[in-house]
Amino acid sequence: MRLILLGPPGCGKGTQSQRLTEKYGIVQLSTGDMLRAAVKAGTPVGLEARDIMARGELVPDDMVVSIVAERIEQPDAKNGFILDGFPRTVPQAQALGRMLEQKGVKLDAAIELKVDEGILHQRIAKRVADMKARGETLRPDDNPETLEKRVHAYRVQTAPLVSYYKEHGLLRTVDGMAPIPEVSAAIDRFLTLEPEACRPAGRVPDARAAQRQDGQGKAAAKPAARARRKAINKGRGRG
Ligand code: ADP
Repeated sequence: MRLILLGPPGCGKGTQSQRLTEKYGIVQLSTGDMLRAAVKAGTPVGLEARDIMARGELVPDDMVVSIVAERIEQPDAKNGFILDGFPRTVPQAQALGRMLEQKGVKLDAAIELKVDEGILHQRIAKRVADMKARGETLRPDDNPETLEKRVHAYRVQTAPLVSYYKEHGLLRTVDGMAPIPEVSAAIDRFLTLEPEACRPAGRVPDARAAQRQDGQGKAAAKPAARARRKAINKGRGRG
């Protein structure tokens, strides 16, 4: 299983990734974690990324693409992975597409966790308070000013990926405002209970979407597929 989780900072990607790794026996590849490790280790990448990250901006595409390219070659990623925090720009998504094509593998889904921006500030404030209470070191970018910039970067640079993956027939939108178990259940429904939600390998990505736009195949559409389409359409244009 190869998944992408899409959503702004604080939307719950980390929480859901963690659970999905356990459930499906796949690895979570978080570019944020990889970059923070590089910063900590003082590697050339880390030195370049440190200030950019602290400002809440995105590091250059080529830097993060090469980190991911190396990481998905590791044996533990063979079974599958969840990309958390990558891709974050359309060029990164295109680079990922090329990488996977070279490996002869396909993405199963891009899961968007849709949340109200107002709630993000509360969630981050809570995360910071919880970390402080546990005596943990805070991330340099976990403060109100930088969070604002991270949300802005998401809106401008990452949100276009919602349309990108919709066009590729891979987008699955989940209500990230629901309680954690409900968000998990909604993701599971997409991944397991509705087998159609995961496009079988080898299928032309846009064939169904193109057919639907043509108005063909509508009568034959199954109720589950119709309901799913409705859910996806509901999220259209918000992101
Ligand atoms: P968040 O919790 O805000 O989603 P992450 O932990 O995923 O943040 O990433 C922290 C920072 O690392 C980002 O603000 C950005 O500077 C950098 N970063 C992580 N992933 C990417 C990426 N795919 N492209 C560019 N920059 C990235």
